[in-house]
Amino acid sequence: MTETRLPPIPVLIPPYHTPEREAIQAEARRFAMEEVLPLANELDPQKAEIPRSFLKRIAEQGYFGIRLPREVGGMGLGAFEYCMISEELARAWMSVASIIARAQGGGTQHATGDRRRELLERSARGEWIGAAGLSEPSAGSDLANVQTRAVLDGDEWVITGQKRWTGNAKAADWLSLLVRVADPQPGQSRSAGLATVIVEKQRDAFPGGVEARMIDKIGYHGFLTWNLTFDGMRVPADAMVGWAARQAGGEGGRPERSTFADVEAGLNVARVHTAARAVGLARGAVEDCILYAQERVQFQHPIADFQAIRFKIAEMAARVEQARSFYRQVAHLIDLGIPCEKEAAMVKLMATEMAVEVTGDGIQIHGGNGYTTEHQVERHWRDARLTTIFEGTSQIQQRIISDRLLPRSPLS
Ligand SMILES: Cc1cc2nc3c(=O)[nH]c(=O)nc-3n(C[C@H](O)[C@H](O)[C@H](O)COP(=O)(O)OP(=O)(O)OC[C@H]3O[C@@H](n4cnc5c(N)ncnc54)[C@H](O)[C@@H]3O)c2cc1C
Repeated sequence: MTETRLPPIPVLIPPYHTPEREAIQAEARRFAMEEVLPLANELDPQKAEIPRSFLKRIAEQGYFGIRLPREVGGMGLGAFEYCMISEELARAWMSVASIIARAQGGGTQHATGDRRRELLERSARGEWIGAAGLSEPSAGSDLANVQTRAVLDGDEWVITGQKRWTGNAKAADWLSLLVRVADPQPGQSRSAGLATVIVEKQRDAFPGGVEARMIDKIGYHGFLTWNLTFDGMRVPADAMVGWAARQAGGEGGRPERSTFADVEAGLNVARVHTAARAVGLARGAVEDCILYAQERVQFQHPIADFQAIRFKIAEMAARVEQARSFYRQVAHLIDLGIPCEKEAAMVKLMATEMAVEVTGDGIQIHGGNGYTTEHQVERHWRDARLTTIFEGTSQIQQRIISDRLLPRSPLS
């Protein structure tokens, strides 16, 4: 039998290649395969989250501040490198590619001046990692239906309601909550009156006035996910994003900026990041299959000799390349500041659906072994399965795309 081997690693090509990017990619790949992968293989079967000590290792790599300026300790890079590194991390463990998204300067929008700078520096150091509480029991795809209330009482907001699916809530240093401060007035959109509150908290604890229950999931185990109930939790008035600017303008009362528009803009980057994570997972399946097919012998041949297996792997690999090219293009558009909401939705849709199918094919190529926890391909599939659901389901991406392609008739 010939020597079992993997194909050469995918490289950066023009117009995206720079020596700096090549070095960043190589280091992310080394870190992922040498340090993240063994951890995933050990912890995922135990449904154990990313250890706190490993957060320090991720911080040393600089990955919590990829998109933060160098002046605050970040890497000063763009969406392109953010996605490129995330593909490498997801190849090993999607949870690690996800936790870095919970820093990158998030949870600092409410702060100003020196306090903002301090939080940005902490974010870059991995000491200001958060959780996003958007979804609720009755507000998933339909975020405009958020019911959690924030009511101003003196110089504090009192928060009451429920959040569902808040990933990393306990381990977080802050929670970003989408809340309702007012009901929409007649003629306003349903999202009017929504605002974002940043709740500063102790790591590994929940603030007073919060009851938490962990959700038992089928994958994505490095990232614990929580149901949160807020029963009169109090936060300072300036925890509301946009509050300080409003106060400086002397108007008081309600947040000024369009919170829903901010959330939507953030989702664009999140969608490309999810596409990159999906590509990482699918690539993992392809690479594992290439090795397995050369080792597994049936009918006195490595199964890699059978055309059905060869052609399937060829197709899987081609689909991964296609999705990677697309996410790189969309990340590049983001870095150029070119509006690309439709394209972000397209790449999220295509890459995540691809990943579900490719990782599923990976299980088939592993035969019975694919249906065990003894091989990594089942983890790739379980994690890929989530990517078509979170950050907006595939159907919501189809809705975003079609709404930008087709006008609706007055009848709809
Ligand atoms: C493991 C996990 C982690 C998550 N982490 C977070 C997190 O950290 N923070 C957070 O805020 N949220 C998080 N979420 C929530 C996630 O974003 C939602 O699950 C997702 O947006 C879908 O909402 P839903 O589950 O309520 O489904 P629903 O909105 O109830 O949708 C059910 C089905 O109906 C379809 N559908 C809904 N509306 C339409 C429509 N208009 N047209 C066509 N089809 C439609 C959907 O595509 C889906 O197939 C997480 C979810 C999971 C599973």
